[in-house]
Amino acid sequence: MCNRFMQPLRVAVQWLFLLLIVRMGVQFYHFVLYCRGESAVFVPRPDGVEGFLPISALVSLRGWFLSGEINPIHPAGLVIFLTVIGLSFLLKRSFCSWLCPVGTLAELCWKGGFSLFRRNFRPPPRLDATLRGIKYLLLLLFIGSIGILMAPGAVIAFISSDYNRIADIRMLDFFLHPSLLSLMIMAFLVTLSFPVKNAFCRFLCPYGALLGVVSICSPVKVTRDGNLCVSCGACSQLCPSHLPVMELKRVHSPECIGCWRCVAHCPVHGALSMKLTGGKLAVPGLLFALLVLLLFWGGSVAGKMTGHWRTAIPLQEYRILSRDPTIRH
Ligand code: SF4
Ligand code: SF4
Repeated sequence: MCNRFMQPLRVAVQWLFLLLIVRMGVQFYHFVLYCRGESAVFVPRPDGVEGFLPISALVSLRGWFLSGEINPIHPAGLVIFLTVIGLSFLLKRSFCSWLCPVGTLAELCWKGGFSLFRRNFRPPPRLDATLRGIKYLLLLLFIGSIGILMAPGAVIAFISSDYNRIADIRMLDFFLHPSLLSLMIMAFLVTLSFPVKNAFCRFLCPYGALLGVVSICSPVKVTRDGNLCVSCGACSQLCPSHLPVMELKRVHSPECIGCWRCVAHCPVHGALSMKLTGGKLAVPGLLFALLVLLLFWGGSVAGKMTGHWRTAIPLQEYRILSRDPTIRH
């Protein structure tokens, strides 16, 4: 079956998800306004906002290992974190290329850059490899400091701290009232994202690095049939991660984001497909897309069914903490 439809389908999923995130952000903004007494209309806090707290989730994960219990402060954050890791374990870094809002905006930027310059730019291979290493260093830093060096007492203290309890509000404030330095960094990254494909994701995102490492175990990988391939080079040329697909039999790289761009543009039917371990069974595109959505949605359902989704922080506490100027910024 032709896989041409996979790119429009993936882009549609990306933008639908981005719209849902924006809607959630607006809802959370109104919740915070209510908490701070700046609006009389109560809007419930959307639990999914905790997906934007990966550091809190990492500390929660450590806390879970230490205490054997999932803390009730930001349970949805941990559930989303584990869901995304599980998704990467099964279906490569599909979260990055199908769902992550940063990935969606990064793709919009480099496609815009391609329209502007008629090409995208890639740093020389050695520099590119060095820059890609930054995200793994950041990942090591987070895992080392939170997963190993952080004392058990400090983990528990962080989880129950006021700082962590309103980490979601602090995150909102960060975006609504960015410092000059944050603005300059964001402007630099956006500017870089036009000429360079997925600059932030490929060079700096430690979350992507973690998902990449996990995705090495994925049973589903882009697989090339050397007997059918006509060496046209389209797959290597179109891969946003600059992987030499045409020279590989199977793409094991943690940089593969499972975007299906190479498969969708391969002109020879069957020469390139997403195949299960063993290289015999090809995963149909539609099934892959459905699995991405079902697994992600299933994570939140599992969280709700097991009582690990809604925060235990009472509304009154949100009202008090959100107005505290010592924690607010
Ligand atoms: S190898 Fe294919 S699926 Fe993987 S990132 Fe490159 S284009 Fe996307
Ligand atoms: S796009 Fe298909 S035919 Fe062309 S090089 Fe890649 S695998 Fe071979």
